[in-house]
Amino acid sequence: MNLIIFGPPGAGKGTQAALIQKNYRIKQLSTGDMLRAEVASGSDLGNRLKAIMDAGELVSDEIIIELIANCIAEPECEKGFILDGFPRTVAQAKALDNMLNHMKRQIDHVIVLKVDEEALIDRIKSRAAETGGARADDNAETLKHRLKVYHDQTAPILPYYEEQKLLRNIDGMQPIDEVTKEIEALLKA
Ligand code: AMP
Repeated sequence: MNLIIFGPPGAGKGTQAALIQKNYRIKQLSTGDMLRAEVASGSDLGNRLKAIMDAGELVSDEIIIELIANCIAEPECEKGFILDGFPRTVAQAKALDNMLNHMKRQIDHVIVLKVDEEALIDRIKSRAAETGGARADDNAETLKHRLKVYHDQTAPILPYYEEQKLLRNIDGMQPIDEVTKEIEALLKA
């Protein structure tokens, strides 16, 4: 089973993807986590990525597509994967379809977490407090910019998957375990 979890920053994609990884034994591929690991390594590439991420901008499609192409080809993704934070542009979505076609694989569901954007600011504030401000992009000002980037560059992917009848909308405002239950119900159906 190959899934995409989709939604604006703070929608709960990472939390739900980690639970799906655990319960369905498919690999969570979080591009944000991979990029943060590269930043933490202190490499030259990491330093360049940090500046982009701290500003709430998107890293180039080339870098991200190569990253994902390498991950999907790994044996740990053989049973399936859940993409968390990818694709984020229409070009990334098309590149993903190309690589999956070559591998004779496909996306089964695109799970869309619907959230009220007012609530996102509060969620990001709590995440910043819980993690001791570990993420430089978890602040109200950068979040505003990340939301704009989401609307301008990421949300336009939705019609692409709508056409393929892959969109599954979930109310992401519910408590975490209710969201998980709804996702599990749709995966069983
Ligand atoms: P996230 O943890 O998914 O919120 O991602 C944190 C940051 O990493 C984003 O604001 C972007 O700067 C970068 N990033 C993560 N995934 C992607 C992607 N698919 N395309 C471009 N940039 C990304």
